[in-house]
Amino acid sequence: MGFKRRFVIGTFLALTLSLSTIAVAAGELRNSDAFYSGGGYKVLSVTENLKYYVTPDAWNEFGDYIEDAFSDYSSIPGVDFDFQEVDWADEAELIILNTQDDGTYDGLPGIMIPCDWSRTPTCEKTRYQSRWDTAAVFLFPDNMDLKGYNQTNRHKTIVHEIGHAYALVHQPVGVDSVMVGGKSTITSPTSLDISNLQFKY
Ligand SMILES: [Zn+2]
Repeated sequence: MGFKRRFVIGTFLALTLSLSTIAVAAGELRNSDAFYSGGGYKVLSVTENLKYYVTPDAWNEFGDYIEDAFSDYSSIPGVDFDFQEVDWADEAELIILNTQDDGTYDGLPGIMIPCDWSRTPTCEKTRYQSRWDTAAVFLFPDNMDLKGYNQTNRHKTIVHEIGHAYALVHQPVGVDSVMVGGKSTITSPTSLDISNLQFKY
């Protein structure tokens, strides 16, 4: 049982990272500008019952924050977000796992990598500006330690990465949004994030 899971997850680690360009513009991004252009789940309505798989170690370390994030997103008015746990990573539309940064991720606390199951038995990385089957969220507790992330900053990271799964892009520094990159004390989607999600979903 564990082997399949490890195999599926292990294949992600071989993926190369290509960070999308982050706009460093003044002012907040609204509506379609707040999302990866052309990006998101292939079937947008999967977000109404998003199948998720969280590895046991990610759950042990971040379970409270993951639950809180699910609660935040599922209570956004006018948007029908919900979550359903599944037993296997390859059944999941959202995968959350802890791993160690081998240097590829340059000290990031976490990253969402969109992937596609259609061509291979494993989830193959696809472009942010494309439609994907699954959003794989990698959390890097070692990087969080190195960068002095406190519990609030870790909580923010979980909510932020799940925001990427909904195809939200980074907001410029200084904007009141959980989608600003880096260390932050915002631990819930803000009114800007909520209004953007209400625009798309
Ligand atoms: Zn981010």
